[in-house]
Amino acid sequence: MKIALLSRDRTLYSSRRLIEAAQARGHQVEVIDVLRCYMSIQPHAPEIHYRGRKLAGFDAVIPRIGASVTFYGAAVVRQFEMMGVYCLNESIAITRARDKLRCLQLLSRKGIGLPVTGFAHSPDDTQDLIKLVGGAPMVIKLIEGTQGKGVVLAETDKAAGSVIEAFRDLDAYFLVQDFIEEAKGSDIRCFVIGGKVVAAMQRTARDGEFRSNLHRGGTAMEARITRAERQTAVRAASALGLNVAGVDIIRSKQGPLVLEVNSSPGLEGIEGTTGKDIASQIVQFVEKHAKPGKTGSTKGSG
Ligand code: ADP
Ligand code: MG
Repeated sequence: MKIALLSRDRTLYSSRRLIEAAQARGHQVEVIDVLRCYMSIQPHAPEIHYRGRKLAGFDAVIPRIGASVTFYGAAVVRQFEMMGVYCLNESIAITRARDKLRCLQLLSRKGIGLPVTGFAHSPDDTQDLIKLVGGAPMVIKLIEGTQGKGVVLAETDKAAGSVIEAFRDLDAYFLVQDFIEEAKGSDIRCFVIGGKVVAAMQRTARDGEFRSNLHRGGTAMEARITRAERQTAVRAASALGLNVAGVDIIRSKQGPLVLEVNSSPGLEGIEGTTGKDIASQIVQFVEKHAKPGKTGSTKGSG
């Protein structure tokens, strides 16, 4: 197969591993920087151009879209779909996952466990919003943050009010969320491929920090997950229509709760801690499912 790997940097661990795995299985891989793609949109003849030439002949696209380029990256994936090229994760699924509010709304519709979450616009409703999630301690997070950036723990209602006011002054959209204290700074990253959890790791925040992100100094080890956790992860990926997803689950008194779903989950942490060859499993999934014209997810909506 000829595979397009949408990545801005071929030297990143995840890119390198996917290239390696695809080549080892006899495929040809071209790394494409989405920001250098430009598109011609016209009836029945959608095109993508790249560095002065027209892209053609691809059998599959593996999108790795960074959070800072979601809008443009999703448009490029969508254009591949218009051209009838199979995309491992579809543009609509990527955008559903990237917006934390939309993601949680879609999960809630399916009855998947989540921390109680509030969202509001008007500053007049701040006190009631805080009450809605049971008051402090609570977590306040920017809708499009990643790597723990823009995720704040407010230990008192007063602190929560100040953070909310600050975010509002910046015209930033944010969620307020019940703080799951009993998780003690840990969460579980479940790596889902094609409706199966293929690997799971527990991430634990460093001392004095509640965010478990590896980018914030968290540490990881392989996790044994329960049946309920496995089901939750699989259902979350399916609710968003993602074939490949990193589903972050927090262990609470009420059982597994989904924190977020990542549509371009990194391979370094999960392969490093579990010793599993996730890149090859991704490539094998693509081999099995890529067909010309197989685009347009029927799973989920909204
Ligand atoms: P990001 O997209 O920046 O990773 P997350 O929503 O995943 O944002 O939050 C980052 C980390 O903060 C999580 O991995 C988790 O460790 C911690 N966290 C987030 N929300 C909660 C919560 N409601 N209760 C307890 N810890 C949380
Ligand atoms: Mg996260």
